[in-house]
This record gives sequence, structure tokens and C-alpha cells, in this order.
Amino acid sequence: MSNEIIAPPGVVAAAPPCAEAAAEPAFGAAPRRITRPVRIGSVVVGGGAPVVVQSMTNTDTADIAGTTRQVAELWRAGSEIVRVTVNTPEAASAVPRIVERLAMMGVEVPIVGDFHYNGHQLLAGEPACAEALAKYRINPGNVGFGRKRDTQFAQLIEFAIRYGKPVRIGANWGSLDQSLATRLMDENALRAEPLEAARVLREALIRSALDSAARAVELGLPADRILLSCKVSGVQELIAVYRDLATRSDFALHLGLTEAGIGSKGIVASSAALAVLLQEGIGDTIRISLTPEPGAPRTQEVVVAQELLQTMGLRAFTPMVTACPGCGRTTSEFFQELAQVVQEHVRAKMPEWKITHPGAEHMTLAVMGCVVNGPGESRHADIGISLPGTGEAPAAPVFVDGEKTVTLRGDTIARDFVGIIDSYVERRYGRGEAIDAG
Ligand code: SF4
Repeated sequence: MSNEIIAPPGVVAAAPPCAEAAAEPAFGAAPRRITRPVRIGSVVVGGGAPVVVQSMTNTDTADIAGTTRQVAELWRAGSEIVRVTVNTPEAASAVPRIVERLAMMGVEVPIVGDFHYNGHQLLAGEPACAEALAKYRINPGNVGFGRKRDTQFAQLIEFAIRYGKPVRIGANWGSLDQSLATRLMDENALRAEPLEAARVLREALIRSALDSAARAVELGLPADRILLSCKVSGVQELIAVYRDLATRSDFALHLGLTEAGIGSKGIVASSAALAVLLQEGIGDTIRISLTPEPGAPRTQEVVVAQELLQTMGLRAFTPMVTACPGCGRTTSEFFQELAQVVQEHVRAKMPEWKITHPGAEHMTLAVMGCVVNGPGESRHADIGISLPGTGEAPAAPVFVDGEKTVTLRGDTIARDFVGIIDSYVERRYGRGEAIDAG
């Protein structure tokens, strides 16, 4: 593939070789790509720091109570950065009050402002908003049009410089800088062997981010206050874009499949795209852009992001429950209910355990439906239970650290098993004990 039209102007430096990555990769994963670390409030993104989970609210930001509540929910679910849209003067004036309320609640999560079209005006009109936000997200395709575009982009960067804030330059397939796309298309048409249109549009997306970052540096914003993203909605396209982007700068990268979709489609598409890139060491922070199913909590996107990172062995957030899918050997739904009870219990306890029992997030649990794989899988977990399948004696052996310790019977199996988990956490991860987090 030719690079003839893709060399970007500007000051972005080539990424160092992956072999120089400082972070220990997960088993089988490529070393993390080394990027410039960016501090967003109290959170560091890039530079070998653990991949950060972030999310975005879907409330009207001007609704101070509703937005504060949802930010707190996302934070409690494990979101380490939360983005809110800042689209009106009312939303901008709400931001400092939201940040203040969160602080009073003990919710210390960096709040990012998402700006489109009028960010320069909103930040000028609400200095308290500019101060309260931990980062500004700027979409180079939506900063402004025509001659105003460059001026308004410069104004946004000047606010970031004045208030000491980092920015994410977040290009998006759905709001591509049309003047840049048209120019690259015209240049491509003059080539002896024109590239495919999709290839040129992909280049336009990447160039939009890289050129804007170079311009921000020219304006005086330090390079370690810039993150990049180039979001598209297709899995293969996203992988191609970020592989390319990762070779062309050392800015920290925000990964996400935009408009991923609803339910399992959104989860699968996001996981497929992000897993490939994370496995290659690409990506410093992730957001799963799920469309919530009616009635589903917004926090689902945080759970999916955490589970993606944890199942890949990149981070640990909460004890993982291994459960068999069930089959004709166990007609009872009890093991499914128990798996759910256990998962919900450890997830609910984890915010407390994180402080009082650090390391508990590495614990592994197994809930199995019959004797075929039950004892074996249970022995591999820190704690496992093998429930009786159809025709088996009504007894559920429990295995702790690979050894059978007790057999549970009767109506209190769920309660007893949860009690065993809590006792194990107390014993193994209790205050002051040295933790072998594995
Ligand atoms: S452990 Fe037993 S119940 Fe579960 S899937 Fe395997 S055979 Fe079926």
C-alpha cells in the first residue's frame, strides 16, 4: 500500500518500537505501544498506565440533579473518566455545579466536556465550566465551517492552554472534515493509480486528527496534553484506522467503535474491534458506545469495558465467575440463578473490597451445573461449586484453592456459598495481608 498521500505535515513524532514498551503485556498480547502520558484530573492515560475505562452520560447536562446522579452511577460501576455533552449555555453553566455536587458526594471522577460547533463560545461565556472540566473533547470536523474553522479551533486550544487542560482531538467518520476529504479526493484523482475511495476517506479521518494535533502543538498546547481518536462504526475499518494511526504518532489513543449498536450486536462489535487492537498493544483508554436497551442501565457500557479488559488479562476489576452454559444434564435453573447471585454479589461488594480487601478483584469463582465438568472446573478456580445435575445426589461439593472443603445441601446453598466467598475474601485479602494478586 502506498504511503504517498498519507505522510502528515506537523510535528507528531513516530512511535518508538513496541519492544520498548514499559508495561508488562498480558499473556500472548503484544507489548503496549508507548505513548505520551496525559494527566486527566487524577487519572493518567497512556505512557504505559493501565488501560482506562471511560463512559459518557446520556442525560441533558443542564439537568444538574439527573446528570450528577448518572455520573455517580457510572463512577460507582467503575468508570474512571466520565464525559458529558456541553452543547448550550445552560449545560455549560451546569457543569461546575455538577462537579461541585460530585465532590460533596465523594465522587472524584474527572469530567470531560464534549464540544461541537459552539465550544469556543461556551467556554468564553462560562469560565467556571472551562475551569471545572478535566478535559475538553474537540471534534475537528465540527469545530466550525469555512474560514471560521481555524479561528474557532485556535480559540478552543487557547482555552485549554489558559486553564491547563488536556484535549482529545476526536475525529469521527460521521462528521468528517469535508474540506479535507474533498481535497484528498481531488489529489487522489490526479494520481496515476488512484486509491480506492474508502482508503482516501480513511486517510482523511486520520489526517484530520493528526493535522489538528500538529496545529494545537503549534499554538502552544504541550503534546502531553493531547489524546487522539478516530472513530468509525465498522469493525475492520476501525482496526485498519487505528493500526495506521498508531504508527504515525505517539499521542495517547482513545479507542472506541462509534455507534456500535444496541444489545449483543453493540457488545460483540465493540469487543471484536477493540480486542484486536488491544492485543496488538494499541489503545490507552476505551469507551464502549452501546445504545442502551429500553430500561437497561447506562452503566452497562462500563461493565462491558471492564469485562473486555479483564477477560483479556489486561486489568482486573471484579472477581470473574466461570459458569457452564447448562445442557440436558441439568434441567434445574438453580445453577444459572446461583451464577447470577454470585456475580451480582461480588460486583456489589467490590467497591468496598477495593479499599478493605485489595486484590479480591483477582479472585476466580466457578459455578457449574453437574458432575461432568463441575469438580474439574471448580478445582481450577479459587472457589468453585459443582451443583447436582439431573439424577445426581442432591449435594453440591465446594472446592477452595483446589481442595474439596465442604458439601452443601438443602435450601440454603446460595446463602452458604456466598458466605464461603466472603470468608475467603476476609482470610486471603484482609487488611494488611500481603497479596499475591496473580
Ligand atoms: S457442566 Fe454439566 S450441566 Fe454444565 S454444560 Fe457441562 S455437562 Fe452440561
